[in-house]
Amino acid sequence: AMQGSTGSEERIVVSVRVRPLNDKELAKNDLSEWECIDDTTIMYRSNLSASERSLYPTTYTFDRVFRADCPTRQVYEAAAKEVALCVLDGINSSIFAYGQTSSGKTYTMSGITGYFLQHKEREFVLKFSAMEIYNESVRDLLSTDSTPLRLLDDPEKGTVVEKLTEETMRDWNHFIELISFCETQRQIGETSLNEASSRSHQILRLTIESSAREFFGNDKLSSLAASVNFIDLAGSERASQTNSAGARLKEGCHINRSLLTLGTVIRKLSKGRNGHIPFRDSKLTRILQSSIGGNARTAIICTMSPARSYVEQTRNTLLFACCAK
Ligand code: ADP
Ligand code: MG
Repeated sequence: AMQGSTGSEERIVVSVRVRPLNDKELAKNDLSEWECIDDTTIMYRSNLSASERSLYPTTYTFDRVFRADCPTRQVYEAAAKEVALCVLDGINSSIFAYGQTSSGKTYTMSGITGYFLQHKEREFVLKFSAMEIYNESVRDLLSTDSTPLRLLDDPEKGTVVEKLTEETMRDWNHFIELISFCETQRQIGETSLNEASSRSHQILRLTIESSAREFFGNDKLSSLAASVNFIDLAGSERASQTNSAGARLKEGCHINRSLLTLGTVIRKLSKGRNGHIPFRDSKLTRILQSSIGGNARTAIICTMSPARSYVEQTRNTLLFACCAK
């Protein structure tokens, strides 16, 4: 990972969270193939065949590895808090949950967002906005109008989502209200909500206007506003799925594009910030450009099921996580 220009903070912090086996997995005796060796290392403990050995490592090391019994608060404290609180210093940041469907992305991300907002001791004005990217189309989750939003290029602010609703957050209850409203607005797919959420990316954005603005009484300084973005990504199986048909194929392709572009962007950023970084290749990376590029800070929490039947997907997730370091 990159060293920050101002200190030793890592620009991209990558962690892995193992979720507990669920009742279905336990009932099927679909047991864990993974062992967390310590706070930073996870190991695949079954014997690898010769061909697997040439393809996959058996141990993987990250900034942090969280065992299945680790509570979300601890994940927040160790893997997200520092990055999220950069927003108070005027630094943009993004916190991603990456992993296959049912690995715990939403569980993790909604918990983390809540913990962030419990920093009540700090006084700040928070603006809340929320969007969903579905089929490379951007939708305002605070509006009942589902017309796709356009992305505009602002010379000072970079990419701006046109007409995106921003709510000034009053208090904790208001936040809970906003979040549940967003839930009702999420794209409902043909089969179930979970199905739909596995195909769309959700971005919750909290913007804090720097107090420097009031202090200097200068409108130009409003660009000091910084955002922290909480991103619940589409299921990572979409990055590789090619065998669906028709409309599903179209969705698959688009989700491919956003997830694949994100992967490319993160990989390039983790190697160094020079050279061309293809932010403009997908809506997700365009919207997040100023919150993952430049001096922004990023935390990626990769979620995984420990079950045997998911080993393929889990390896893909861990390989993505390795490339982000
Ligand atoms: P995803 O968003 O990746 O599809 P979810 O967050 O919806 O997955 O998680 C799938 C199921 O597993 C949910 O019922 C959730 O409550 C449960 N779950 C996920 N992670 C954990 C965890 N760390 N501890 C307990 N339950 C979890
Ligand atoms: Mg989810």
